[in-house]
Amino acid sequence: MSPSPGDFPVERLLSWYEDHGRHDLPWRAADRTPFEVLVAEILLQQTTVAAVTGRYPAIVARYPTPAAAAAAPVEDLTAAVAPLGLEKRGEYVQRSAAGILARHGGDVPADRDALLSLHGVGEYTADAVRALCWDEPVCGVDANVERVLTRYFALDGEDVDAAADALVPDGRGGEFLPALLDFGAEVCTARSPDCAGCPLADDCAFAGTVAPGESTTG
Ligand code: SF4
Repeated sequence: MSPSPGDFPVERLLSWYEDHGRHDLPWRAADRTPFEVLVAEILLQQTTVAAVTGRYPAIVARYPTPAAAAAAPVEDLTAAVAPLGLEKRGEYVQRSAAGILARHGGDVPADRDALLSLHGVGEYTADAVRALCWDEPVCGVDANVERVLTRYFALDGEDVDAAADALVPDGRGGEFLPALLDFGAEVCTARSPDCAGCPLADDCAFAGTVAPGESTTG
């Protein structure tokens, strides 16, 4: 099965996001810069939103631009992210910043291959930055996004990345990705999806297969 936008209640998801999304996360501020988004996505790799939320404002205040981060000793960046664990990400931020400065005039590139060439930037991070910064019609697929779409469409071995990208409404990549991320974190959770209260339940293949209150690993 190849999901298409017509198969998915995009507007219901976006409406849910408008009412219930985590709009106050610091990396979602209206005046955020692409570099701040990139830093957030690097820090969020393998770390909880709650943990990053506590450290992120101080890190971007101290290193607000690629020039500032590139000029800092890597040990300083490493120390700044140490409380999050995985100190390597301090090096990722510093070396990515240096690459942005050296090859892109200090501006985070919008091109996917250029993003992927930056240190510590993988496919999810590149797609997330493109969607969040420039509303590109891509949807990074992390565990939350994969779980929601796999359940909804009963995917079984299909290419989830392609399925997710196909669902992004024109010019709304920057809403669609965080909507799916938040929905997966708050409603369609790994162990206790709230199918009874879910705004997507009408056509979800998974709805009703789990009794209220029952936990699942599906
Ligand atoms: Fe997830 Fe249940 Fe909603 Fe389907 S009905 S999207 S499984 S919470």
